[in-house]
Amino acid sequence: MDDWQPPLPAGYNDHNRAFLQAFMARGTLTLAEGKGIIAALQGVNPSDVTNQDFANAIKTAREAVEPLDYDIRNTRRQTGNGERIWAFINAHSDPTTALATIRSPDEVAYIKRLLDAMFETYNTPRMEVMAVGEAEALKVSRPPGNRESNAHTQRADNDEGGSQAAAIRALKHSEVLSLLSSLVAEGWLEKSQEGYYTLSPRSLLELWSWLVATYNDPDSEDEWQHIKFCESCKEIVTDGQRCSEATCTIRLHDVCEDGYWRTQQERKCPKCKTPWDGSHFVGERAITSRSGFQRGRAGRRRQSNVRGGEDEDGEEE
Ligand SMILES: [Zn+2]
Ligand SMILES: [Zn+2]
Repeated sequence: MDDWQPPLPAGYNDHNRAFLQAFMARGTLTLAEGKGIIAALQGVNPSDVTNQDFANAIKTAREAVEPLDYDIRNTRRQTGNGERIWAFINAHSDPTTALATIRSPDEVAYIKRLLDAMFETYNTPRMEVMAVGEAEALKVSRPPGNRESNAHTQRADNDEGGSQAAAIRALKHSEVLSLLSSLVAEGWLEKSQEGYYTLSPRSLLELWSWLVATYNDPDSEDEWQHIKFCESCKEIVTDGQRCSEATCTIRLHDVCEDGYWRTQQERKCPKCKTPWDGSHFVGERAITSRSGFQRGRAGRRRQSNVRGGEDEDGEEE
């Protein structure tokens, strides 16, 4: 549906308006949820609402919001059943406009540090975790400029600049934990069973351009980049499989792989031709599938075991 060019919405009515309001209030919709809203508005059973009815409702809503610079896009969940999700988004968002409109400047700054942790610190060529556990989320509670000896340089692309950075204060651990749980409740973050926080499908849709602009280098397209895309669906991979050749940049979602291999003659990386073993992971499994993690877990839970690779020695298989 990303291809069509919207004509002006014709016959826009109260049902269309109410559907859009319900959608905006939730931020995201699954097909079943969308049908439920349409059924309620029309006073029919959800089973009487067809996929085409839902597609029409989305199409009309999209036409209505487009002049306001908003959009409705859809993506599949990267994990589990791969369910498709529609999100109401501002495609020109950065973390301040998306996740942070009702946050304090200290919280906004924290969210940016959290994203840096996800996409830089814990996302290295060796370990593409792109997720943080609670311990890692707490580790960035303090801005780097808050200590007297500050070896870090402020990010050059931080539009707040250095003057405000000096005024940013650390969040207390209790504040970090409550911020994380509201970001989960609002659908910006997801928390896995193992306790790892990741960006939700909605955040990935909304922040797509910002993530690429912030964490990738447009001049080294062929090299390893922080943000990579699924060979099959072309969307961002924060949880999936990677080519077992360490320097190769090919990634695949678990939910995309069956369809993908059906279109290939052999189960080999399309770029470097290494046999695809399906056991090299992006996401929390980059940690949890490691033998060291499994051993440690047998004795005690080791959620604080997320390390981006900078101090992770001696456990490589
Ligand atoms: Zn995919
Ligand atoms: Zn490869």
